[in-house]
Amino acid sequence: MRVNCLRISVTDRCNQRCVYCRPREDCDFIERAEILRYEEIERIIRLFADCGIDSVRLTGGEPLVRRDVVSLVAALARTEGIEQVALTTNGVLLESMAADLKVAGLTRVNVSLDSLQAETYRKITGRDDLARVLRGIHRALAVGLQPVKINAVILRRINLSQILPLAALSIDLPVTVRFIEYCPTNGGTEPADDYVPYTEVRRMVEERFGCLSDAVIVPGNGPASYFKINHAAGMLGFIAGRSTVFCSSCSRLRLTSDGKIKSCLYSARPYDVKKLLRGRASDEQVRELLTQIIAQKAGISRRDPLAEEFCMRKVGG
Ligand code: SAM
Repeated sequence: MRVNCLRISVTDRCNQRCVYCRPREDCDFIERAEILRYEEIERIIRLFADCGIDSVRLTGGEPLVRRDVVSLVAALARTEGIEQVALTTNGVLLESMAADLKVAGLTRVNVSLDSLQAETYRKITGRDDLARVLRGIHRALAVGLQPVKINAVILRRINLSQILPLAALSIDLPVTVRFIEYCPTNGGTEPADDYVPYTEVRRMVEERFGCLSDAVIVPGNGPASYFKINHAAGMLGFIAGRSTVFCSSCSRLRLTSDGKIKSCLYSARPYDVKKLLRGRASDEQVRELLTQIIAQKAGISRRDPLAEEFCMRKVGG
């Protein structure tokens, strides 16, 4: 599998407190001086592009809370060799920023939305933002961000009842609703038995809406598999990160907000690229590290002895 995607966590800060991502008392932020500056991110991406990375996704934390993130999008979109600049966001600030992001060169957006019911939404995120997020999704569609994908993590004890309403969203709107299996990442998040396997989600959807048909698979579209409800405007996707292992088809690397590169979400061995940059390494030296990381990625599997616990908002989900 060619490694061509990089997810960049631009900040570990977030304006929500999702139960599966960060527990409420969580306040262990990375010091500002340790967070990569925009010019550092831009340099890393320029050098990664030389090594075959052509697709980047900004995530976090919440990428839209980082000051002037639109200018970072514009700089990355201008980088020679970078063809896609995407964003994963909770959507809270999307309504006001979607048009500027589109003009800056953003191509596509994934919006996290785990419930269409206000109380359940608040239970998961700790915030009353549902209406704003829905307006953000409509705005993203209106300005032509393509495709708009909705990411829903399903937790048995909290939002099992939201599977059908979320699936129905793909009937009315030209969006792709993706059900993501919950992956416990550390002792502070929800218990592991809250996880709902994608087979169960799919069965519920098919019982209500009939057999799903295979959707056209876009090559290089990551770990999700895509389907359609009959006559729907949009699609459904399943990301079975817990019940299946898709390491052999994984084409992505991650850059953490404090400048570490991880070849796998679960990898315990990050590479400290910030240390090289701040130690005045030449482009050649940085490129050498990036090339080595890409070459080593092929041998990594989630079944290997794994990482210590990690915090999703720091690594970037
Ligand atoms: N704040 C942004 C957002 O809400 O989309 C970007 C960061 S968030 C960490 C990125 C994605 O990771 C979200 O779609 C979220 O649902 C997913 N995520 C976070 N923790 C997860 C977990 N424990 N298991 C599965 N998905 C998780």
